[in-house]
Amino acid sequence: MDTVYLDNAATTPLRREAEAAMRRYCSDVFGNADSRHAYGRAAAAALASARADIARCFGAAPEEIYFTSGGTESDNWALKGAALAHGRGRVVISAVEHPAVYESARQLERLGFGLTVLPVDGEGFVSADDLAAVMDGDVFLVSVMSANNETGSIQPVRELAEIAHGFGALFHTDAVQTAGALPVSVKEIGADMLSLSAHKFGGPKGFGALYVKNGVRLEPLHSGGEQERGRRGGTSDVAGAAGTAAALTAACAEMAAKSAEIRALKDGFAARVLEGIPGAGLHGTLDAARSLPGIVNFGFDGITGEELLFSLDLEGVCASNGSACSAGSSAPSRTLLAMGLTAAEARGAVRFSFGRTNTADDAAAAFAALERTVARLRSR
Ligand code: PLP
Repeated sequence: MDTVYLDNAATTPLRREAEAAMRRYCSDVFGNADSRHAYGRAAAAALASARADIARCFGAAPEEIYFTSGGTESDNWALKGAALAHGRGRVVISAVEHPAVYESARQLERLGFGLTVLPVDGEGFVSADDLAAVMDGDVFLVSVMSANNETGSIQPVRELAEIAHGFGALFHTDAVQTAGALPVSVKEIGADMLSLSAHKFGGPKGFGALYVKNGVRLEPLHSGGEQERGRRGGTSDVAGAAGTAAALTAACAEMAAKSAEIRALKDGFAARVLEGIPGAGLHGTLDAARSLPGIVNFGFDGITGEELLFSLDLEGVCASNGSACSAGSSAPSRTLLAMGLTAAEARGAVRFSFGRTNTADDAAAAFAALERTVARLRSR
């Protein structure tokens, strides 16, 4: 397609390595991994090998990786599975969590669990002091994302995990946007549970994993067969696992070079926007230590995000208003409101997310289209 794709936070193109791996387990080696015959054994071997490869990328043990249908299921499972295992108590999340965490926590609240939502500052960061101030022995789970899907802001998850543990609570982090983009180590973070999603790093859509540290009490959400060590029933998606492992292995191998390249593209683009387009404002930060390489979020005075995205699409530039999951809704972003933006400012936000296939030409074409579009919309 003759378009510039700057929506890599929504999803990424499938990597060739992933496609090749999946094709093999969709055709020649199609067996059910639970079957005892040769086809089943080949599938089971592929599943085990994918699990080991994925575990290695996060410094986990293979038996701590549970395959799921994606980030949404992993998040739901972490919150609801921990709640079912504990039976009562309180959950703490941040105000900028993805709906998969936020709505799971709200559902638990409706079922009688306590819920505390931590505020964020103007750049979208949770403070460790704020977490410490709301903790007590009643909290069984703290869930704060590793990095935000709308602004790219990276949370101080290691500090937050330490505080949670100090009060005997579990710590879960949604690392869907971080996995494959930056190094993620479950041990360094001190995570008890960590969610990931394959399609954000060049793997297949509809596949993900939940890391569950050995010994963590977690009830299943999918009751059924003995798959995933009895914790998630359902015939295993061997092709999904193989594609995810291939994509993640490729992403990890090129991570250092790619993340620097992607950040340079984004920073160059952001500098041109902020200097060259009057009334452009940044939501979040460009600080390399505290932001994802590829995501940047802007507002443009007097223009709504919806009209800007529509016009950019006509110009061949694919961007987003922040969350593909809420794209059908005209409600302002909960994340941006939590950062202190007015509803009008939040409705004006546009997210550009760079990825591994983007080039300097893409950034230049996107800037030229954006400059033209903003000027045209303002001259109406
Ligand atoms: N968590 C975050 C931070 C995300 O960005 C997304 C997807 O946009 C999800 C969870 C959901 O992942 P999936 O699309 O695999 O359900």
